[in-house]
Amino acid sequence: MNIQYVQGDCIFTRINKLTKQYEYLTEDIDTDVIIVGGGVTGAILGYYFTKNNINSVILEKSRIAHGSTSITTSLLQYELDSNAMELKSHTSIDNILRSYELGIKALDEIEEFIDEYGNTCDFKRVDSFLYTAKNLEKKEIEEEYKIRSEAGFPVEFIDNSNNPFSFDVKAGVLSKGGGAQFDPYRFTHALLKVSCEKGLRVYENTEVVDVKYDDKGVTVETIYGHKVKGRIIIVATGYNTEFFTKRAFGIKTTTFNVATKPINNIEDIYKGVVVRDNEDPYNYLRTTSDNRIIIGGEDINFLPDILNEELCNKSYDKLEQRLKNLFPNINIEIEYRYCGAFASTQDNLGFLGKDPNNSKLWYCLGYGANGILFAVLGGIMLSKLYLGEVHEDLHLFKVGRFDS
Ligand SMILES: Cc1cc2nc3c(=O)[nH]c(=O)nc-3n(C[C@H](O)[C@H](O)[C@H](O)COP(=O)(O)OP(=O)(O)OC[C@H]3O[C@@H](n4cnc5c(N)ncnc54)[C@H](O)[C@@H]3O)c2cc1C
Repeated sequence: MNIQYVQGDCIFTRINKLTKQYEYLTEDIDTDVIIVGGGVTGAILGYYFTKNNINSVILEKSRIAHGSTSITTSLLQYELDSNAMELKSHTSIDNILRSYELGIKALDEIEEFIDEYGNTCDFKRVDSFLYTAKNLEKKEIEEEYKIRSEAGFPVEFIDNSNNPFSFDVKAGVLSKGGGAQFDPYRFTHALLKVSCEKGLRVYENTEVVDVKYDDKGVTVETIYGHKVKGRIIIVATGYNTEFFTKRAFGIKTTTFNVATKPINNIEDIYKGVVVRDNEDPYNYLRTTSDNRIIIGGEDINFLPDILNEELCNKSYDKLEQRLKNLFPNINIEIEYRYCGAFASTQDNLGFLGKDPNNSKLWYCLGYGANGILFAVLGGIMLSKLYLGEVHEDLHLFKVGRFDS
């Protein structure tokens, strides 16, 4: 079955004009690193590999940033999908706190890129807020606050007595500068522009249809019969990895987003933070530079038949209602509704590194809600690994860590 991973009216590819179209591959070429996938992950890899003077090529089967990247909420936050205490059975508190620190490092890296090359993607560093409106969950949030504050993260505890938001908060953790938001379509193109000026080669409409390994490296064949030879291949194909490996990575769901029309005086009611509630599955929200709110969540079991409109509409309607409940005094009108595959892992971390059985097959898979920040860490760690340096935290993202 040809599985469709993205469906609906995706805000970021609708509101943006085509920034640049890249050629498709029309000849055989050689490189060191073959990056498959021209989403935000592939672009991030291309940036870090090129920055480290490693000869690299990106091959994208369709158009740049039109896969999951076109629907990601791009709500960036250092914390993970689950609270530290929930994750404790899968990993250690030390690892969780280290992941938080790495999340902050990844946020800083994106900010540095923006500072150096200009803000063409509406990047905004903001506070992030995790909260519950349920008395029953107060203790859980208090625990999360305690763990983070004792570890020295800049957090503030919020409850009824100091709630700056217009919605009910029984307990919340406000993380100063712990989040960011941007336009993922424009961020991807910004990375590629900078990297291509430094030697990265990018080919759109160039599907990889065959991969062969030999002693020297790897040769891939593209849909129009051209060959790309490299030393390694990095799979940055988001949630579709089946063509490259039989390995199963994470649990797939379908997740949903709706985006409002622009709202007047949004800052008065919203306070410009990225928000996540403590529900299961959780809802999360951010704003856009043209004053919309995007809310996401209402995940359901993975739908290979993502075109099932009736099922999708139920989730979209729930998200719309949730937003109306949160902000009863504003006129909420939904303009965009879209959904797509999503994958999560037991310890909430993605997969970065070599296949345990094939040292020429590498992965950069940002599974979990922090996919974009994991991709940044992948860019840093994998470019170093290629140069022979094993990053001290790479083991956290090890491919095969759940193999029995
Ligand atoms: C609704 C939703 C909301 C999300 N919200 C967030 C969020 O707020 N924050 C966050 O950090 N993450 C979020 N994520 C996760 C985020 O989407 C991903 O981390 C990120 O966008 C994935 O980018 P990617 O480049 O890895 O994948 P994609 O954008 O899917 O790119 C993979 C590319 O590989 C290409 N490809 C596949 N097979 C081949 C082949 N054989 N040859 C050549 N090319 C191929 C595809 O065409 C595709 O363009 C969200 C995901 C979803 C679905």
